Amino acid sequence: MTSNIIDGKKIAQEIRDEIKNKIKDFKQKPGLAVVLVGEDEASKIYVKNKEKDCQEIGFYSEVHRLPEKTTENELLDLINNLNNSKKIHGIIVQLPLPDHIKEELVINSILPEKDVDGFTYINAGKLLTGNNGLLPCTPAGCIELIKRTGIDIKGKEAVIVGRSNIVGKPMAILLMQNHATITVCHSKTKDLKEVTKRADILVAAIGRAKMITAEMVKDNAIIIDVGMNKDEQGKLCGDVDFDNVKEKVSFITPVPGGVGPMTRAMLMKNTLEAFLLQTNGGK
Ligand code: NDP
Repeated sequence: MTSNIIDGKKIAQEIRDEIKNKIKDFKQKPGLAVVLVGEDEASKIYVKNKEKDCQEIGFYSEVHRLPEKTTENELLDLINNLNNSKKIHGIIVQLPLPDHIKEELVINSILPEKDVDGFTYINAGKLLTGNNGLLPCTPAGCIELIKRTGIDIKGKEAVIVGRSNIVGKPMAILLMQNHATITVCHSKTKDLKEVTKRADILVAAIGRAKMITAEMVKDNAIIIDVGMNKDEQGKLCGDVDFDNVKEKVSFITPVPGGVGPMTRAMLMKNTLEAFLLQTNGGK
């Protein structure tokens, strides 16, 4: 890899190794429960990967695969059991859920201290008020990538394209907490290029293949590409036109191999954090 490409896979491995090392003498291991409802193919892969990460690190894990026709009440019952389980410290419900189940209701039934996706109102509110609880994995992973690359966020002009609750908004708040000056763009932004060109740090969380082109970025900017899309050949690609943009920036994350592996690693980090909180430091 050329030197300006941030290797998310390598940094994610470092994080897993650090966690492995931290828990090696624990009598009880951190436990993660993953709940999957229905047959979404991408979700099945994500769940398998989470199981694999737990195995590699040495976490206890449970995967609950439920049929598509599972009722909301059945799902809430399961979460209630997991909330009460002493073996489980982190719970994630793989999204999207089938249409007949209310996602907000289900997510907010998870105890905030076991909410390792950081999606509950309580954890979102804590983030907004600077009393950070468990953080959403993708934006937390982006911050970790930036910091571990040795970049000082303080005082930088950061532009985030995308304002979703799971990526864009928390990303903006985390960058602000780290003393960046932030601008958030979205589909109604008037002159996107004019704004993105100002960015020292540009985060793309849009969901449109290669939308950020070289002429939209400033020389020597730092580019964090959250997007996961398919290109014309059906190959995985980001929101950034990587081949052309990489020539003019100081750092850029590739897709695959950038933010994706970090999201997975941060889920493991959150599970450890949840465990430490619930067990008084593992004692
Ligand atoms: P959403 O669809 O929820 O949000 C997309 C955001 O992009 C919206 O705020 C939308 O604006 C904005 N947007 C859409 N079109 C434009 C445009 N033409 N110009 C400017 N802004 C635009 O997506 P997510 O935040 O959930 O995900 C974003 C991407 O990140 C996806 O590709 C997803 O697959 C990927 N992802 C990757 C993860 C990883 O681990 N690597 C984890 C999570 C997501 P508006 O609000 O106005 O509609």
